[in-house]
Amino acid sequence: MLEDMLNKDEGKSMEEIAEADYNSKLNMKKKEEEYYQQKMQELGLKPVDRLLKYLPEASKYMKKGITFAHQDFEVIAKALANNEPFAVISGLSPTGPLHFGHKVVFDELLWLQKLGADVFIPITNDEAYVVGKSKSLAESRKCAYEEVIPSIIAFGFKSEKTKIFVDSDYKDIYNVAMDFSKNITNSKIKGVFGEENLNNPGVFFYRGAVQLAQILLPQLKEFGGPKPTIIPVGIDQYPYILVSRDIAEKRNLIPPASIYIKFLNSLKGPENKMSASDPSSCIYLTDNPKDAERKIRDAFTGGSPFASIQREKGGIPEVCSVHSLLNYHFYDDKEAQSAYKSCREGKILCSECKKNATSLVTNYLIEHQEKMKKAKKNIKSFLLDTPINSIL
Ligand code: SF4
Repeated sequence: MLEDMLNKDEGKSMEEIAEADYNSKLNMKKKEEEYYQQKMQELGLKPVDRLLKYLPEASKYMKKGITFAHQDFEVIAKALANNEPFAVISGLSPTGPLHFGHKVVFDELLWLQKLGADVFIPITNDEAYVVGKSKSLAESRKCAYEEVIPSIIAFGFKSEKTKIFVDSDYKDIYNVAMDFSKNITNSKIKGVFGEENLNNPGVFFYRGAVQLAQILLPQLKEFGGPKPTIIPVGIDQYPYILVSRDIAEKRNLIPPASIYIKFLNSLKGPENKMSASDPSSCIYLTDNPKDAERKIRDAFTGGSPFASIQREKGGIPEVCSVHSLLNYHFYDDKEAQSAYKSCREGKILCSECKKNATSLVTNYLIEHQEKMKKAKKNIKSFLLDTPINSIL
């Protein structure tokens, strides 16, 4: 990487190269901060700071500002205060093994389960197929049962409070989607998503209707009727939440609340998030230690290309993929603050940090993969098979 930089900046002094690199990283940091601020204002979301005072136990991501905003969390706080039932829903498309970016959302689900929530996890293999991310339903089903669900169970969910379903195997979800689709209007969808984004309306309406069914499912009679629900998501999912709140009102259900989580940076830098479709951007939870080590070694950091300059000026942990990974998954509050300070003051260099990350990540992977093996024998106890008759 340094070699590329030197070739590109031939003729410039070491100080000039380091200065340009530092400024470009400062710009990335500024851009990221502005992005989340702007989104919060534009969508009218509230910061989570005030919640920290009222929650019996805030999540580690809330305390660190990684879960940074919410809509209507008050309904969940009220359910918690009154010891009333509530549910959390979050799913994903099975297109490959889970990675550390996915783990963030599942950590929030686990936190909510510990607070008393029933957890619903739709595995949208039908979506993977219709948008062309899987060649066939069979392929996406295989991925769901062999890769995704064992990993989810390995995180530590309790089977009695967890309902996982693979869309194409839980056909009742399609009856629910059919029923809710009556309330989806063209004007609402165009208003929320913008006409220009509806380039494949058939697929779009299909996905929309099934997603609505998944979000509102816990409020059906079969699961105890209307109740507060919450969805932990990335900010890009906001339009779907908005539509589901609109439909919930029309159907006398409680509009779902949501919390918004900042994406875990890609290993290639802060301009993208970890993505399952780009193996070099993420560490899969099924990666072997050698691959994980290589990915961390090649990861983008907030450090300087020159050790002497990094010792003098410090690094920029806010844009550093390694810091991001450690801060999200391995550091407690104190460790995160101390690592941040050491980096900013140039007291630690990237090589040392990467060594530490490699050891923490590989130990985690070995343990997680062992748990996955056991989880594969226990999938049935987590699968939802409740028939939905109330809408028939
Ligand atoms: Fe990132 Fe660590 Fe380097 Fe700082 S020292 S930029 S936290 S890898």
